[in-house]
Amino acid sequence: DDRNADLRALIRTIPDFPKPGVQFRDITTLLLDSVGFAAAIARMAAGTQGPVDLVAGIEARGFIFAAALAAPLGAGVLLIRKDGKLPGTTIAEDYALEYGTDRIAMHADALVPGQRVLLVDDLIATGGTARAAVRLLRKAGAMVTQAQFLVDLPDLGGADALRADGLAVDSLVA
Ligand code: 5GP
Repeated sequence: DDRNADLRALIRTIPDFPKPGVQFRDITTLLLDSVGFAAAIARMAAGTQGPVDLVAGIEARGFIFAAALAAPLGAGVLLIRKDGKLPGTTIAEDYALEYGTDRIAMHADALVPGQRVLLVDDLIATGGTARAAVRLLRKAGAMVTQAQFLVDLPDLGGADALRADGLAVDSLVA
C-alpha cells in the first residue's frame, strides 16, 4: 500500500546524521514543496477521528504539523517542549535515550482535564518521545486517544508501543 508515494518521494534520507550509522529521514524537503505540504496536512486532518480540542505538537518539527492541523480541525495548539523552554509553571516527564535520559515539559495549565488531545509529530521511531508526551498529557488530565505522524519507522516498534498505550496511531509514510 503506497497511497502516499507522492509524499514519500519528497522525503530524503541523509546517511550518518546526527551520528554514524543513523539514516536520518529529512522532511524539510517536503515542507519546501507547497503541494506536498498541503497534501500532508489535508491527509492527516482527514485521518483524524472525531472532535479534537487541542493538537499537541512535540518540539520542534512537530510544531509545524500541529500548527497547520489546528485550523482544519478547529482546535488549539499545545506545545510540548524540551524542559526549560516554557516560561510558565510546567509539569515534566522523563524518558530514556540510548545513553541517558531526556525531559519534556508542558505548561501545567495548558489544558482543562477531559479535553480531547491529538498528539502530532513529524516522525515516530522507538516511540520514546511520543510515549512520554502521552504520559505527560494524561498526567494533566487530557483524553489522548489518537496520534498522527508524517513518518513511521515501524521496525523500531514505536507505533505498536503507542497502540499498546491505548492510542489509535496513523502515519502517512512508513
Ligand atoms: P523516538 O523517540 O520515537 O525514538 O524518536 C522520535 C523523535 O525523534 C521525534 O521527535 C522525531 O522528530 C525525532 N527523530 C528521530 N529520528 C528521526 C529521523 O530520522 N528524522 C526526523 N525528521 N526526526 C527524527
